Amino acid sequence: MIASHDVVIVGAGLAGMRAAVEAARGGVDVAVVTKLHPVRSHSGAAEGGINVALGNVSDDSTEGHTYDTVKGSDYLADQDASRIMCEAAVGDILELENMGCFFSRLPNGRIAQRPFGAAGRPRTAFAADITGHVLLHVMYEQLLKHGVKVYEEFFAIDLVLDANGECIGVSSWDIKDGGVHTVLGNATVICTGGMGRMYHGTTNAFACTGDGMAMAFRAGAPLKDMEFMQFHPTTLKANGVLITEGCRGEGGVLRNADGERFMKNYAPNAMELASRDVVSRAEWTEIMSGRGVDGCVLLDLTHLGAEHINRALPGSRELALDYAGVDAIDEPIPVRPGAHYQMGGVHTDVNGQTPLPGLWASGEAACVSVHGANRLGGNSLLEAVVFGRRSGEHAAATVKGMTRPDPAAAAASIARTEAKVEGLLAAKGPRADELRETLAETMYANCGVFRTGDSMTEARDTIAGLRRTYDEGVLVHDKGTNFNNDLTYAIEVGYLLEMGDVLTRCALEREESRGGHTRLDFVERDDEKWLVHSLTTRAIDDATINVGTHPVTITDYQPAIRTY
Ligand SMILES: Cc1cc2nc3c(=O)[nH]c(=O)nc-3n(C[C@H](O)[C@H](O)[C@H](O)COP(=O)(O)OP(=O)(O)OC[C@H]3O[C@@H](n4cnc5c(N)ncnc54)[C@H](O)[C@@H]3O)c2cc1C
Repeated sequence: MIASHDVVIVGAGLAGMRAAVEAARGGVDVAVVTKLHPVRSHSGAAEGGINVALGNVSDDSTEGHTYDTVKGSDYLADQDASRIMCEAAVGDILELENMGCFFSRLPNGRIAQRPFGAAGRPRTAFAADITGHVLLHVMYEQLLKHGVKVYEEFFAIDLVLDANGECIGVSSWDIKDGGVHTVLGNATVICTGGMGRMYHGTTNAFACTGDGMAMAFRAGAPLKDMEFMQFHPTTLKANGVLITEGCRGEGGVLRNADGERFMKNYAPNAMELASRDVVSRAEWTEIMSGRGVDGCVLLDLTHLGAEHINRALPGSRELALDYAGVDAIDEPIPVRPGAHYQMGGVHTDVNGQTPLPGLWASGEAACVSVHGANRLGGNSLLEAVVFGRRSGEHAAATVKGMTRPDPAAAAASIARTEAKVEGLLAAKGPRADELRETLAETMYANCGVFRTGDSMTEARDTIAGLRRTYDEGVLVHDKGTNFNNDLTYAIEVGYLLEMGDVLTRCALEREESRGGHTRLDFVERDDEKWLVHSLTTRAIDDATINVGTHPVTITDYQPAIRTY
């Protein structure tokens, strides 16, 4: 099958659906290609909330939000982009509310806001602790209302390029019925989310395998700031399940094995609500110094009382009960840092446009950049909404009235994808999950909260071996066409390996410590040399990874020492 539309969005999470709705409002024909049903996207797992300077519980301002975002980024965010996001937040969140998002309320009826890490004011709007779920369902209603065509359970494999190297759509595997199907469009928008599954101990869902970043990279689009994987301070050891920052926002505290609130030694003012990089490093230091509890520290909510916990954090209590066997009303929850969010992604401008003609990107798969070296909790849902909207609007306006791509121009590209699938089904070798296990272990051990040149070299060399093995062939047992998860998983592992390789190489290049990238062999931030984005490229026909740099946009806030 070859279909064609004006705008094709790859991914139906919060960013993808927001982009699709805005593109449809722009008066063009829009389709969404998604490997999951839209409401099963990882955005639905977001618990804590979304940042917006409404000023409902304090004298907050968009200026304060912008400043906190830039400071939190360790000054690596582009300040023009951060300002656009923070200023747009108020209008965008009120629009979501008008669409039907039932945010939690203050007694006076206004939208409630809770404190979140590294935010100068209580700024995070929320729907109890199911914020992402609420946003996703409301956006899905909007998607249907605007008549967007959804290619559901279509697994995108390659961007389709014409003879000039311009992106004219995407080729995908039909998960339900099998076969390579191609959806062409004058504009393609990558909204495929994160890549946390390359780590053991990650909060990310099984589907977060960096597909869109890898597809864009292979098609010649640059990736930016890929060394910056965020570690969330409060995840469960058994399976990486996230216990939201909202717990600390509601008054939860962190203790070590001696019962001490250790954050006073690391961030005496903000304490547990310092930024995530700071809290994760503090926890790891406590654990490594022998003051942990079975490889964890303790998140204590017991003083909040049953009524408060059941009202504000019911989901977190349930998760701790189910996965750690702990009732947060009576006992502290053992937690440790886990891989959570990829600050880097496909390099875009403030309209989501990439340097590859025909290609846009937004959400976690993109890097605008608003998060720099460390994202603030609550800013990612916001990024997905604001830059999803902007990329949908810009893509639609750019291609409106254009002639649709000629299917003949896609023939060579589609043939390559078909050959790839056939090759995978015919290959012999180890199973892809064995490679993923080794990748995830080496990433957590060697490219984690703390890194060194030696540990990252080990990760790089391990990944090089895994990639060689993968290229020689992995065994896909299931040869069938219906719901062949064996096949799609093997493709996902290919994406993860390449993106793990990129992350490690970028991290090795950056000889300083900044935000989520902390090197024990280069402990200081080095603004002289490294106040720059990394920009990584490869050629279409040569998989060599080239790491370069790109300037940071600094407008209002000069880099300063960062304390909390
Ligand atoms: C547990 C958890 C809690 C979080 N809590 C918060 C929070 O409280 N506040 C906050 O601001 N942020 C939070 N975040 C981060 C935030 O939720 C995500 O960064 C954001 O939702 C990502 O949205 P997205 O639309 O970019 O991607 P996703 O929601 O991950 O959607 C990706 C989409 O891409 C599709 N896709 C992927 N690969 C393919 C492919 N090959 N072919 C076709 N389709 C594909 C999927 O089907 C899916 O529809 C949290 C993240 C996690 C993991």
